[in-house]
Amino acid sequence: MQEKTKTTTPEENGKSLNFIEQLVENDLKEGKNDGRIQTRFPPEPNGYLHIGHAKAICLDFGIAERYGGVCNLRFDDTNPVREDTEYVESIMEDIKWLGFHWENVYYASDYFGQLWDFATQLIKEGHAYVDEQPAEEIARQKGTPTVPGTHSPYRNRPAEESLTLFEKMNSGEIPEGKMVLRAKIDMTASNMHFRDPVIYRVIRIPHHRTGTKWKAYPMYDFAHGQSDYFEGVTHSLCTLEFEVHRPLYDWFLDRLADSSYRPRQTEFNRLNLTYTIMSKRKLLQLVQEKLVTGWDDPRMPTLSGMRRRGYTPESIRKFIHRIGYTKYEAINDISLLEHAVREDLNARAIRVSGVIDPVRLILTNYPEDRVEEMEAINNPEDESMGCRKIKFSRELWIERDDFMEDAPKKYFRLTPGNEVRLKNAYIIKCTGCRKDENGNLTEVYAEYDPMTKSGMPDSNRKVKGTIHWISVPHSLDAEVRLYDRLFMAEDPAAEKEKDFREMLNPHSLIVKKGCKVEEYLRGTKPPDSFQFQRIGYFSTDTDSTEIAPVFNRTVALKDSWKNNQLINIIRQKETTNGR
Ligand code: ATP
Ligand code: MG
Repeated sequence: MQEKTKTTTPEENGKSLNFIEQLVENDLKEGKNDGRIQTRFPPEPNGYLHIGHAKAICLDFGIAERYGGVCNLRFDDTNPVREDTEYVESIMEDIKWLGFHWENVYYASDYFGQLWDFATQLIKEGHAYVDEQPAEEIARQKGTPTVPGTHSPYRNRPAEESLTLFEKMNSGEIPEGKMVLRAKIDMTASNMHFRDPVIYRVIRIPHHRTGTKWKAYPMYDFAHGQSDYFEGVTHSLCTLEFEVHRPLYDWFLDRLADSSYRPRQTEFNRLNLTYTIMSKRKLLQLVQEKLVTGWDDPRMPTLSGMRRRGYTPESIRKFIHRIGYTKYEAINDISLLEHAVREDLNARAIRVSGVIDPVRLILTNYPEDRVEEMEAINNPEDESMGCRKIKFSRELWIERDDFMEDAPKKYFRLTPGNEVRLKNAYIIKCTGCRKDENGNLTEVYAEYDPMTKSGMPDSNRKVKGTIHWISVPHSLDAEVRLYDRLFMAEDPAAEKEKDFREMLNPHSLIVKKGCKVEEYLRGTKPPDSFQFQRIGYFSTDTDSTEIAPVFNRTVALKDSWKNNQLINIIRQKETTNGR
């Protein structure tokens, strides 16, 4: 049975196979490719990976892992204009962080020689020609899906002529834009990609790996399928927009392959998330125009941004598993991702106290020189994480909004005459407060009840509110960065008439200085994560120093944006392939 060939997590066991797993299992049953499974993850090194790429990664690596195959990392580096080794390195780091392992690292640029030979073969066989028309002219002759294209005047030039010019395209004699190599297919084809597609163009910018060796570079469509073939890929998984390219992918392979083996392309839906964008070009623009602090800004949908913000790889994988793979474009609610992050951190984060907007609470009947140690449970979800001691004294930091002088009836926190429990310590009764000349609260006063500490006779006495606190002499100053959605629009990419930068949320970052945290957090480093009780999950930022920690709010304890409704909006989008 199917279950025997798979290694599944308990959660996955309950879920039926997705259409790609079904296809792979059928291929295995039929003994295709001698039972070999090989996939690849093919990023172009022109930016950092985002959560959308994680969806492709989980599939490419996941299929290989699950069916005992291999997955290679292949850099699709056929356009030197936008590519850089900085991106190569960040991509590798992000894949490892997600928890996947590639078998080999390949570069499409390693195949430039083989691709050149294949292009030459096509010219000789009468399947390709050098066109000297300007790009606009070529575009005009393409026609439209309902109007057939017209032939280039160069279409039937002798193969020898094309061969000579193709050589010149690569030797530096031809300026950019003056000549292209086109496959000679069918200018009346209903699939526009068959209308003599451009397969080589001249680019005079040095390549990040091959330097100035090449001046003629293959187009994506001419490189991708062939690279799959050279490597022995069996299942070439890509996003839906490539579905219309598949016939061309197969057309080239039919002319290249000398055996029955063929890589097979299968398409799945992209990941789109609400309140963010997934275009590398636009993300690069945010970085270059300093609208964010970098690719790893914790508000970015990049994996490096999410890592810095405190998202765990496990939560990202779980989220992707939950949304699944289909043949329909959709947009997923970002709160589903946040829910997965919260769930994961709930299980693993140590509970600590952090006070974002501190005000001093003085227990007027507590001895001035006394310090007690209270016991705190590190994580009530996981007993094995144990307990720790926290210091208690007469002066405590509490949240400013845990006190209200004239409180409404349902206010169960500190207000004169009211009792609350200090988490892990005593019940106290508020007796008053002090304000400065401008009416700003400076101190809150209360009296503690010594009988209400854990182990004392009245320890089980119930009061309606519990608040957190930090002993003033045992606290540490911290900076806290509160993040919100990067965009105000639910689907910024859909609002075509607006500049995406106008839709940025001006309140996506709020920096709070002078916050207080427990002394326990001294020396914390990324990727440490904590739950600041009653507030949210926070991770230590890379800007932290030994004595001045900086924390990122990873996610609030509750979803405030949409009343915690985890709805997955599936909105049919028009795709080019019209599915
Ligand atoms: P660009 O944004 O520059 O057009 P890209 O997002 O397509 O590029 P690539 O580096 O070409 O980036 O992508 C590598 C792989 O990741 C491809 O197989 C692509 O289909 C997949 N991928 C990219 N974006 C998404 C997404 N949002 N959801 C799922 N897969 C994606
Ligand atoms: Mg791409």
